[in-house]
Amino acid sequence: TVTGALLATTGLTKRYGPLTAVDHVDLSLGRGIVGLLGPNGAGKTTLLRILATVLSPDAGDVRLLGLDPTEPKERLEIRRRIGFLPQSPRLYGGFTPLEMVDYVAILKEHTDKTWRRNEARAALEALGLGDRMHQRIRTLSGGMQQRVALAAALIGTPQLLVLDEPATGLDPEQRIALRSVLAGCADEGTVLLSTHNTAEVSALCQHVLVMDQGRICWSGAPEDLAAAAQGQVWESPHD
Ligand code: ATP
Repeated sequence: TVTGALLATTGLTKRYGPLTAVDHVDLSLGRGIVGLLGPNGAGKTTLLRILATVLSPDAGDVRLLGLDPTEPKERLEIRRRIGFLPQSPRLYGGFTPLEMVDYVAILKEHTDKTWRRNEARAALEALGLGDRMHQRIRTLSGGMQQRVALAAALIGTPQLLVLDEPATGLDPEQRIALRSVLAGCADEGTVLLSTHNTAEVSALCQHVLVMDQGRICWSGAPEDLAAAAQGQVWESPHD
């Protein structure tokens, strides 16, 4: 384990009956944006859910921000300090984006109302939702709803951001906006995101992990990915 790693795992394993969805994964991530690629069913979502503390592994160790998620007190602190975008985010359709992001900030025990509102506004504006902040979420497009969930994950500029396919449903302009937001987060911390888009990885990430059948089968710089991917099953088409 690299000293100062914000995210570290050893032997991380998760099984569903006979299927090993995550198979002895060892990770040690410092600052920067890390992309997680891999075919459908590779185990990306399962791994990210474990790292967001919403799923427990069957075996192996996890350290997040230097804390142990199996200790209840430390798990609560982790949950306050990380941002997580699930694969299918659940939003309250009757809330406005501003109310939704504010609510997540309350759950994270940010007690200063003015601070919360300012942070929520800034996150929504950075993601191009400045003119939609007061409209009910259920009346927004799918891509807009995805950005509300992203804004909620970004609240408080977490040192560790875990994002399951953050660019899904975003148009090219909004993908570019997302890049600059994530680059800002990566100055201070670790961003780990899954994607099927190899072009996105090259544009965004400093490091790439490729997962297949529960294992990390390749790890390296984005510029080396194309050569490594030649003829591999995990070569994914550009979206
Ligand atoms: P995709 O790119 O399609 O999102 P993924 O890499 O995120 O795929 P996972 O969703 O982590 O893959 O799934 C990994 C494997 O674990 C799959 O074979 C899946 O069917 C299985 N799996 C995931 N969740 C469960 C569950 N709750 N019960 C049983 N099997 C599961």
